[in-house]
Amino acid sequence: MKILITGGAGYVGSATLRHLVGAGHSVVAYDNLKEGHRGAVEGFCELVEADILDGDTLEKTLRDFRPDAVMHFAAATYVGESVEKPEYHYRNNIAGTQSVLDAMRACDVSRLVFSSTCATYGLATDEFLSEETPQVPASPYARTKLAVEWMIRDFSHAHGLGFTILRYFNASGASPDGQHGEDHRPETHLIPLVLQVALGQRKELAIFGTDYPTPDGTCIRDYVHTSDLASAHQLAVEATESGKGDVFNIGTGNGASVMEIIEACRAVSGNEIPTRIEPRRPGDPPRLVAVPKKLKETLGWDPQYASISDVVETAYRWHRDHPDGYPD
Ligand code: UDP
Repeated sequence: MKILITGGAGYVGSATLRHLVGAGHSVVAYDNLKEGHRGAVEGFCELVEADILDGDTLEKTLRDFRPDAVMHFAAATYVGESVEKPEYHYRNNIAGTQSVLDAMRACDVSRLVFSSTCATYGLATDEFLSEETPQVPASPYARTKLAVEWMIRDFSHAHGLGFTILRYFNASGASPDGQHGEDHRPETHLIPLVLQVALGQRKELAIFGTDYPTPDGTCIRDYVHTSDLASAHQLAVEATESGKGDVFNIGTGNGASVMEIIEACRAVSGNEIPTRIEPRRPGDPPRLVAVPKKLKETLGWDPQYASISDVVETAYRWHRDHPDGYPD
């Protein structure tokens, strides 16, 4: 297949892009490089450096490349930032997605894979979250993603768009060959921050809240390796048919608390990890853990990383060998 990947230079976008190229698909990355890295794409495919809100460039790219499908990763993703700057998230995520859907319609591209998030379940109280769990977003970021899910369904109903919505749990880890890993600037995600402390690149880790209703009082997340996310995207794009739509969780079904992540990083690195306790971070739900059954049963997803220590081990090697991330 020919696939256009918005946000192709980002963490999950570039992991997926590499996986698709390896599986024989033809790919073009579309990224404004605000968050993404040229080095994450270079040597794999063409990169169009432009914004999704630039509808003219988006249409020209679609007309030139004539893809069978679009994978839409490009978005603002920091929960904390969305509380401070909701306008940035609404513009990028909602107006940005409308721009992508409009360009697709104008160019007769009728298949879409969309990056949604477990954060749309937010304050849902189910211990394990299935695709049927009611969505109760707890942050502006999560609300934009839920709104886009509805936008996609409405476009499908009115215009025959075929779609697969993937609700990711916490993307994590690095490629086993050590060439692809997490590089956010500034970094806000837990595993990279803990590893940077373990490697002496940061002084200590701030733990955001120890008074959550969880066994050790810290938040629980379902950390899913980017290689497994990438294979799920391949299955999703190959299964997406014009005029039809579906939604899948991508998670492991296992939860790890902030304390358990710190312990896994300590064990992998052999180093102490100094911490300090801070108040809760606004917008953080206490527990988000997937039921990944539907993805496995419907699309045959076969994740390779079951334990958090395996995930952390790959991330550790990436951060140790690339202390400054990608070269750009
Ligand atoms: N977290 C933390 N300290 C940090 C960064 C994150 O305690 O410096 C916690 C955060 O409150 C959340 C969990 O780690 O409960 C995972 O956060 P992350 O930003 O990695 O992913 P999110 O779940 O927000 O997408």
